[in-house]
Formats: sequence, C-alpha cells, structure tokens
Amino acid sequence: MDSNRFQVAIVGGGLAGLTLAIQMADSGISCILFEKYKYPFHKVCGEYISMESRNFLERLGLDLNEPELPLITRLHVSSPSGIVLKHKLDLGGVGISRFTLDHRLSEIATRKGVVVMDDCKVYDIRFVDDHFIVDSSKGSFTSEICVGSWGKKSNLDTKLRRPFTKEKKGKNYVGIKYHVCADLPADTIELHNFKDGYCGISRIENNRYCLCYLTDSDNLKKFNGDIKKMEEAILMKNPFLKKYFSESTFLFEEPLAVSQIRIGYKNAVENHILMVGDTAGNIAPLSGNGMSMAMRSSYMLSGFLKSYFSHQLTREELEKEYATFWVSTFRTRVKFSAFLQVLLKNKALTNITISVLKRFSFIRDRVVQSTHGKPF
Ligand SMILES: Cc1cc2nc3c(=O)[nH]c(=O)nc-3n(C[C@H](O)[C@H](O)[C@H](O)COP(=O)(O)OP(=O)(O)OC[C@H]3O[C@@H](n4cnc5c(N)ncnc54)[C@H](O)[C@@H]3O)c2cc1C
Repeated sequence: MDSNRFQVAIVGGGLAGLTLAIQMADSGISCILFEKYKYPFHKVCGEYISMESRNFLERLGLDLNEPELPLITRLHVSSPSGIVLKHKLDLGGVGISRFTLDHRLSEIATRKGVVVMDDCKVYDIRFVDDHFIVDSSKGSFTSEICVGSWGKKSNLDTKLRRPFTKEKKGKNYVGIKYHVCADLPADTIELHNFKDGYCGISRIENNRYCLCYLTDSDNLKKFNGDIKKMEEAILMKNPFLKKYFSESTFLFEEPLAVSQIRIGYKNAVENHILMVGDTAGNIAPLSGNGMSMAMRSSYMLSGFLKSYFSHQLTREELEKEYATFWVSTFRTRVKFSAFLQVLLKNKALTNITISVLKRFSFIRDRVVQSTHGKPF
C-alpha cells in the first residue's frame, strides 16, 4: 500500500478534526490528520465544555468524569457597570484546558491507528482527477476525501480563496487567554462584560482558572496593540475584572492571543472539501459552546462518510447532504450568537439586557437553551 495515500485527510487537529479522525479509525477508514503545532499546546479558548458532548467523548475513549475536572453548574454574568445576573445551568459543563483535552484526543487517535502528523503545516489542497493532494511541510499526501478542520482562521482560507475572506463588511475580534490561580468557586462560570467585549473565567484542572476574553479589534488598536494598557483602561472598569486582574496570579509569561476572528456562517463545502467546526462557521464565544458544535459536526460528518465509503452515497450526494445538514442544524445557532454578540457590544444595551434577564427567568432559560444543543 502507498504510505502517502489515505481514504481521508483531515487538515487541522483541533476538536473537530481529532474527534473525526478517531471515528474514522473506529470504522476502519484509513486516515491522516495534519496539525501545524506540536501536541500538547495552548490555544485561545474559554475551556468550558458543555455537557452535550460528554457522552460522545466517552464513546471515543475520553473520560471526563475524573474528580480532578470541575463540574460547572452555575453561570454569573455582570454588565460593564457591575449589575449581576445569576443562573443555574441545567445541562452545565466541565472545565478542562485545551492543552490537556487536545493532547489526550491526539493520543487516542494515534493509538487507534490514525497517522497524526503534528508540527506539520498544510500549504495547499488540490482536487485533481477525483482525489485530493495535500501539500504540507512534511511532503505531499493523497486522499479520496479531504476534511477542512483548520478552525476560525488559517492560511488555507486565503489560499483557497474562500468567499468570506474577501468580505469587507463585518467586525474583526481579538481573543486573549491566560491561566490564573484565583480564589473563586469551582462550579461557576463567570462572564463579565466590558465596553466592546466580554471576559469569561472558570475552573479547569490542577486548581487553575482559565481567564479568556474577546474584544473588538478596534479596542486594541486604540492602545497601539498594548494588551496590558487596554486591560487597565477598558476591562478593569468592570469591578469584577478589576479584582481578578489585580488579585490573581497569572501563570503565562505572555498572554495567548488570536486576532482577526470573525463571527458568522461560512460554507460547509468548498472545492469539494468538507468543512467541520469553526471552518464551517464561527459561533460567538459568549454562547460557550463552539467546542460542542465542532464535535457535533464531526459526529454527523462521520455518519455521512461511513455511508460514502460503503457506497450508499456518491461524492455529489455526500457534499449536498452534508451542506444541507449543516445549514439546518447550525445556521440558527450561529445567527443567534451573532445577534447576542452585537447586543452585548453596546454598554447601555448590555445593562438593559442583563436587567431584563435578571427579572424574567423564563427568558433567561430560553437564551441559555438556544446557545446549547441536546446531548449526542
Ligand atoms: C475567546 C474565545 C473563547 C472561547 N471559549 C469557548 C468555551 O469556553 N467553550 C466552547 O465550547 N467554545 C469556546 N470557544 C470556541 C472554540 O474554541 C472553538 O469553537 C473550537 O475550538 C472549534 O474547534 P475546531 O476544531 O473547529 O478548531 P480549532 O480548535 O481552532 O482547531 C483548528 C486547528 O487547525 C490547525 N491549523 C490551522 N491551519 C492549519 C494548517 N494550515 N495546517 C495544519 N494545521 C492547521 C490549528 O493549529 C488548530 O489546532 C471560544 C473561542 C474564542 C475565540
């Protein structure tokens, strides 16, 4: 057998890519996965993983029931001026760092027979004579199917001339993350709003907390890219953030940052490449659920791919059915999260929204439910 030829090539080893690779291996489908960084590595993410994907991860071989991992069942939200809303999360979530989560999944994938090419950047993907050629820093590989799981932003979006890269309208956001030691409840995720952004803080493994925020990139431009100055001048106007930024012990030497994040719907199939997770559409992080969405899309795509490899679907049918599934399952969630993102950008509107939600628990329930899916 040609060692550079696979049934499926997966480009991007985050949650969507890794969970799909494991499912392919479980079904006896040969699979290669490319990840540009070397596992384990840190990633900008709030690290609150909704319970909707716990059963799925357990089926893949990852146990989230370890006592070390905090169960998160409560949500506290504050407005820029400090009005606080408290809500019980019915489904809830688990706190685990991406450093640990992605690494453990990459180990499961390798154990099950996936060729995990980490520290390997993909430069181009070409569809020639009904198969794909993936050009990477470790050579060229051939596959029958190619899956795009390179996340919110990648060199490949421009290389493949994806339509959204040419759009002038729409906002760009910046995401910043730290791990901190703080004195906070383990069962609560806190979301604190500030002008043009919000910051989440919740517990992960080893008694640490993930402190992660998203802000309009204009905020950072105003301070010539100086993150510390922006935090002091803007984030710390919120009394909770002022306390956490001044009293916590920060464990990274430098903040982890990602820029040019865009929220919204992209295309689930382009140039015959099937897109999963953030590559197909970015949900606003305040919905706290992008990771589960990424895994749900990989779960569904795995079903379509099994039908394709057992000759129940042609390539054309596979692409059409997957694209239709994506729109019907996620479009409303992505649109609703984009709406929430705009609403919470405005200081006055945020104060009003939080005051209204504070009074009416049934609206609160609906808002939280619309950002979470059912277990799968
Ligand atoms: C500030 C912020 C906070 C968030 N907080 C939460 C949260 O608390 N809970 C939650 O559920 N979701 C959260 N999210 C969303 C969540 O992080 C994403 O939805 C999720 O990571 C998507 O998974 P993915 O597999 O699609 O992409 P990713 O996890 O981003 O994985 C993509 C991978 O592709 C790799 N890659 C890119 N280009 C190439 C290339 N050319 N060659 C090889 N590899 C490549 C990247 O290195 C990366 O590892 C947050 C997002 C942000 C921005």
